Amino acid sequence: MKMQSLGAACTVTGSMHLLTLDAVGGSTRQLLIDCGLFQGGEDLEARNREPFPFDPRDLAAVILTHAHLDHVGRLPILVKQGFRGPVYCTAPTAALAETVLLDSARLQVEGYRQDVRRARRQGREDEVPPPLYEEEDVHRTVALLRPQLEFGQTLQVADIRITPQRAGHILGSAYLLIESAQARLIMSGDLGNRESGLQLDFTPPPAADAVVIETTYANRTHRIWADTLVEFRDALRESVRLGGKILIPSFAIERAQTILYTLKELMDAGEVPRIPVFLDSPMAARATHEYFEYGDELIPPVREALQNGEDPFRPSTLHVVPTAAESQRINRYDGPAIILAGNGMMTGGRIQHHLKHHLWKPSTSLVIVSYQSPSSLGGRIVEGAESVRIMGEDVAVRAKVHTIGGFSAHADQDDLLAFLSTAGRPHVWLVHGELSVMEVFVPVLEGLGLKGDIVPDHDTVDLLGAGFPAGRPPGLPTAEARDTRRSAGGE
Ligand SMILES: [Zn+2]
Repeated sequence: MKMQSLGAACTVTGSMHLLTLDAVGGSTRQLLIDCGLFQGGEDLEARNREPFPFDPRDLAAVILTHAHLDHVGRLPILVKQGFRGPVYCTAPTAALAETVLLDSARLQVEGYRQDVRRARRQGREDEVPPPLYEEEDVHRTVALLRPQLEFGQTLQVADIRITPQRAGHILGSAYLLIESAQARLIMSGDLGNRESGLQLDFTPPPAADAVVIETTYANRTHRIWADTLVEFRDALRESVRLGGKILIPSFAIERAQTILYTLKELMDAGEVPRIPVFLDSPMAARATHEYFEYGDELIPPVREALQNGEDPFRPSTLHVVPTAAESQRINRYDGPAIILAGNGMMTGGRIQHHLKHHLWKPSTSLVIVSYQSPSSLGGRIVEGAESVRIMGEDVAVRAKVHTIGGFSAHADQDDLLAFLSTAGRPHVWLVHGELSVMEVFVPVLEGLGLKGDIVPDHDTVDLLGAGFPAGRPPGLPTAEARDTRRSAGGE
C-alpha cells in the first residue's frame, strides 16, 4: 500500500494523493484521493503547472473528500490530460464542486487576460502561460462526477472497498476507509472543528493499519465556541464605534454561511447593532442554496430553522451583491457596514478592491475569520506588514485588524487526537499542514505511543512500512533551518 503525495505535503493546499494498492492476482490499482489546486502566493500557484508524474488514464478512479478548491481544483487539468474514469463523491460535494470549478475557471481566464494586458505593454504577451482550464473543461469534468458516496455505505471499486464517513468539515465532507486485501487505511480529508461550524461532528473512525491525517491546526487548541462568539461580537462592536467599513474576507463555502448565521443570531439577540451586511460573493450566495438542499447534515438549530421555512443565513439587513459594478458601488456607501467577500486569503476576488479602498483608513476594521497562508496577502497583513501591494498599488495597513481563530472549520489538536483515539494503533502519516506545525505534532503522537511520520513531497512512501527516523523524511530541513535560509535570501 503505497502513497505519493503530489500536494498538501508539508503545505496546506493542493491536496492530491496517489494510492497504489495491491490487487488480487498480483496486479496493482491506482486511486487518486482529491485533486486540489495550490493556493496562497505565486510560488505555490506555479506548482499547479507541474506535470502529473503518472498517466491519468491508468487511474481506476478519483475520490473526492470534499469540494474545497484545494481538494478539487486540479481535476479539470487531469481531464484535459486524458482522465475519463469515474470521480466518486457525495451528492453535496458534486453540487458544490461544480460551483467551485466554474468559479475557478472564470478566475483563471480573467487572470490570464489581465496578465496578457500587462505583458503586452512590455511586448511579452507570448510568454504568458494559457489559463489552466476554461469553462468547457469544467463541463467535461462535471460529467465524470459520480455522487454515489453515502456515509456508512461501502462502494466497491474493482477489488477495493471504500466506505465514506462524515468528516464534519464542510457540507458533504467525508473521510474514507479504504480496504484492500492487504490492509485498512483511513484518508482523513479535512476534519471538522467539533467546537464550531454548521456541521455535525465527525463519526469516530474504526480501527485501521494506517491513517493519513490532515494537520492544519495540529499544534493548537481552538477557543471554545462561546468565547469565539464573544470575541467576534466585541470585534464587531468596536468596529461599529470606529464608524468605517468592516471587511470580512471569507471562503464562499461553509465559512460564509457560518458567518451569516452567526451575524443573524447576534443581531436578532441585540448583541450587535443592525448595520447593513453586504454579501459580495456570488459563489457564496450560490453555495448557500445547497445548504437548504442538504439541511439534514447540519447542527440541530440550523436544521430546525430550515424545517420551519426560515432562512438561518439571512440577517435582516443583508444585501446580496450580484454584479461587479454593484460591488464597486458599495464603496460609496457612507457609514459602518459589514462587507463579506472572497477570497478568504485575500489573494484574489472582490475583497481586493474593498481592501484597496479601505485598508489605509484608520476607521476601517478587518476581521479575519479564516486560515491565512504565510505567503498570502492575508498572511502578510496578519504578520503586521505596514504596507501591502494590492492590484498593483502599495496600500498602507492602517485598519484595525482582528484575528478570530475559533471559526475554523478544521480540527485542532484535541479533535485530531479524539479522531485517532478510536482508530486502534495505526501508523499515522501527516499531510495538509505547515512543516512547523507537523514538527509539533509528531512528538505528541509519540507521547501516545503512536508512530507519526511527515509525508514527503512527491516521494513515494510505503504506508505499511517502518517510516522514518524521528518521523522526518531524509533530507527534509527543519522548519527553523528552512526559514533562516529563506530570510538570508536563499531558497
Ligand atoms: Zn477543506
